Parts: sequence; structure tokens; C-alpha cells
Amino acid sequence: MMPDFHKSDLLIGGRDQKAQSGEYFDVLSPATEQVMGQSARAGNADVELAVAAARQGYHEWSALAPKEREATLLRAADLMATTGEQRYLDLLMDESGSVINKARHEIYYTVDLLRTAAGEVRRLYGDTFPNDNPARMSMVFREPLGVVGIVSPYNAPLALLAKMTAFPLAAGNSVVIKPSEETPLIAVAFGKLLVEAGVPANAVSVVTGFGQECGAPLVSHSGVDAIALTGSTATGQVIGAQAMQQMKRVQLELGGKSALVVLKDFDPQQAAEIAVQGMFNHAGQICMANSRIVVEAPVFDAFCNAMKQACENLKIGDQRDTECVYGPLINRRAVEKVEAHLSDALQRGATVLTGGKVKQGLVFEPTVLLEPPRDSSAWRDESFGPMTSVVKAADFDEAIALANDSEYGLSAGVLTRDIQLGFKAARAIRSGAVHIGMHAFQSNAMAPVGGLGLSGMGRSGGHYSTDEFTELKWISVELGQ
Ligand code: NAD
Repeated sequence: MMPDFHKSDLLIGGRDQKAQSGEYFDVLSPATEQVMGQSARAGNADVELAVAAARQGYHEWSALAPKEREATLLRAADLMATTGEQRYLDLLMDESGSVINKARHEIYYTVDLLRTAAGEVRRLYGDTFPNDNPARMSMVFREPLGVVGIVSPYNAPLALLAKMTAFPLAAGNSVVIKPSEETPLIAVAFGKLLVEAGVPANAVSVVTGFGQECGAPLVSHSGVDAIALTGSTATGQVIGAQAMQQMKRVQLELGGKSALVVLKDFDPQQAAEIAVQGMFNHAGQICMANSRIVVEAPVFDAFCNAMKQACENLKIGDQRDTECVYGPLINRRAVEKVEAHLSDALQRGATVLTGGKVKQGLVFEPTVLLEPPRDSSAWRDESFGPMTSVVKAADFDEAIALANDSEYGLSAGVLTRDIQLGFKAARAIRSGAVHIGMHAFQSNAMAPVGGLGLSGMGRSGGHYSTDEFTELKWISVELGQ
């Protein structure tokens, strides 16, 4: 089925605006690899307009009473709950290649995120502390930063954008959004929903375009006070360096190479089912996908057999089938990246347990590699596709060492029935999160999501996000003569 054709302009100051250049770029559908829409191609001049609007919008939005900001975000949540499927379901499938279940999950998680952010509006707590001078009183206030530039990825183009936007707004900031060039249409539609809910038109703008042309001028703009990026580590390194040049607050949620550790007391059949869930959602285009699986020797063979079976039973490809786990990868480059990592590992001694090729179009088979060399890209780098590696560990200590054999540190899972061992592993694994009895891919609107090492810096979710997008100010008052 050919998707509907969409043409989208920029959203600046609450209005549709053509790019100053008048140019558009094509948006391809991952399912058909054909043009499904066009989006305005923003550059420097458009970023100037959006930031000017956001400076104005910041004063309007931050001046509102907390109860008004709270009510606005709750209205956005209600609009998403009542109209989200109608507005976004097809777009999520057509533009980002989501299967229907993942698209629905994004919509309902967005409702949850907006409600959680609304709840944070009244929790921007300050502080007091004692002074040795009894006539002096000290207070700490939490204040918004101003304009936050949001640079978002394609893999969960609605939910991640909502998370990145709702909490800075809750804290009283205005935002300028630069979504992935792969998924601009969803972002503009989301910006419009926020304005419809009552966020002042100037407080949310969406500029669509490419990283260099549109993202870079936003990041370096002197009118932007802070940057939030969810994206690849390579982009994080560029944006982080730029932000540091200007001493801007920056939050970086980057790539992952998350480990799932299967200890010998855990049922290998169940472990394989958990591993498949944690790895193949959205074809592995998930930052927390367990793309490295470490299995203790006594259950290794049984786990591999069960994993092969589970992968071969996975239904893939048909995005509108509710039993389908995943559809196409985002574009051909994404397929080629998986193929490059796979062939490098195979040339250097790894074997394929199952999968290893394209099924149709951009749909790649669920693929499991056995024992890739520890310096191969399949083990070290993010493949961001449906491919995971399984390695054998002689004992608990080696399992933890293998889990920690990564420059990333986003999330991990530990499968054991021994809660003491589970905690021991959780404390020993170097990662922003460790889930005992479950895989690494977990989301919760209240949780501090973020990573160590190449996975980035800062945390998002609940008050951890509003902490990131507010500044502390010490105010003291002299009450004596
Ligand atoms: P990407 O880095 O290619 O792009 C992310 C965004 O950055 C896009 O909007 C892009 O246009 C923009 N960009 C690129 N270069 C830029 C520049 N020089 N200046 C300003 N903006 C620039 O990432 P992607 O491929 O869209 O997303 C996938 C990546 O995101 C994966 O690495 C994945 O692990 C990561 N991710 C991380 C999390 C997390 O929570 N840690 C969540 C989702 C995705």
C-alpha cells in the first residue's frame, strides 16, 4: 500500500512557514523506499527566526503560573490520548517504518510522558540552608535556562521528541526543535499539537532540515541557552564540543552496546525469549537493545538452541500485522551498516547462529552472531539493526568482565534467580541502568535515563530532566543592620 503524500512547512511562532530558501527535501518511506512526502529545508535564516520567536516565547511561557503550565501539558496529553492514533499512527508506520504495536506504544508512552512532565511543574523545589550569621538568610531557587535547542533522532520520533520537549517546557523553558531529517513530518505534527494545547506559539518552533545546515546553526546560536541531543555518539561529540565552546548546558543521550548477562541458574529457554524481546524491537534500532549477550558456560548451548528457534519463529516485515515484531530499517545505509559489521566479524572467525541477510526491501532477518572477535565492529560498535552477538563466559567474574568490555554504558540486563548475585552484578556493571531479571530495554517516564562513557552525559525523565534544564540560584538576604 502506498502511503499518503505529505508536504510540511516549518513551524515558527505557531504558524506554518516556508523555508527562507523556498526549498524542500524528500522524505522516503522505509517500506517502499519511495518519496512519501516533502519537508521544508531550513537553514541559518530559518533558525534565526525560530530562535527570535523562542526568546519571546520564553518570556511568555515562563511568566505563566505553574498551574497554567501544568494544565497546558495535561491538555497536550489529553489531545494525544484522544486523537493520537488518528494523527500519528499511519505517519509513524509510513515515515519511520514502525510496526503498528510499536507505533501505538509510542503514542501512549507520549501521553504518559506529557502527564509526568505536567506533574513536575509544581515540583521545581528550591532549598534553604543555615547561615552562621543569624541575620543572614539563604535560599536556593531553581530557574529555567531560557531557550533549549532540541536535536532528535529517527528511531522513536514521537516519544523521544516528546520526552526531550515536555520536561524542558515543564521547567519553564521555550524550545526550538530540530528533528531527524528522516522523520520531520511527525515532529511538525507534534509541535502543532503542543500549540493547539495552549503552549504559547512562540515557545515551540520546529525547523526541519539536515544536521550541518539546520542543526549546527541551532547548536551554535548565541540565543540558545542549552542543547539536548538524542542521537549517535559521533554527533554527540561534535555537538558537545560546540556547546562547550560556548559553555552551554548540554545533555547528550547517545548510542549503546548494551549487555544482557545470562547466569547459569536461569532457564535458558526463558532467557532466549527475554533476549529476543530486548533485542529485536523496532529491528534493533533501539539505543538500549541488548546487542551483546554474555552467557555462562553451563547454559550456553541450551541458550543458543533456544535463541535460534525463537529468532526463526519471529514474525517480521508486515507493519500492519499486530503479531509482527519489526518492519524495515530506516534506510539503505542502515542495512549496509549491519552487513558491514556482519561480514567483518565473519571474516575474522565469528559464525552465524541464525539470520544474516535481507528478507525483503529494507527488512533484515533477526541475526545472531557467535563469538565475534572482541575488537570487531560487531562487538564494539553500535550496529543499530537486528543483529546481536552471543559469547560464552567461564564463570560469573568473566561474565561481568565481558559485560564491561565496552566503551558504551547505557543499560544492561542480568538474568538470574539469585537476587544477591543479581545485585552483585548490578553494582559491578558499568552502566547508566541495570535491570535484574529483565533485558536492557526498559522505559519509564520517571526514570533517570542516560549513560556513561560513549553513551553520553546527563539524565532524562521525571525530575532528573527538569534538574538538567534549570539552573540553581543562591539568593541571600541580610536582615540585620
Ligand atoms: P544522528 O546522530 O545521525 O542524528 C541525530 C540528530 O542529530 C538528527 O536530527 C541529525 O540531523 C542531527 N545532527 C547530525 N549532525 C549534526 C550536527 N553537526 N549539528 C547538529 N545536529 C546534527 O542519530 P540518528 O541516526 O538519528 O539516531 C540513532 C542514534 O541515536 C543511535 O546512535 C541511538 O543509539 C541513539 N539514541 C540514543 C538514545 C538514548 O536514550 N541514549 C535514544 C534513542 C536513540
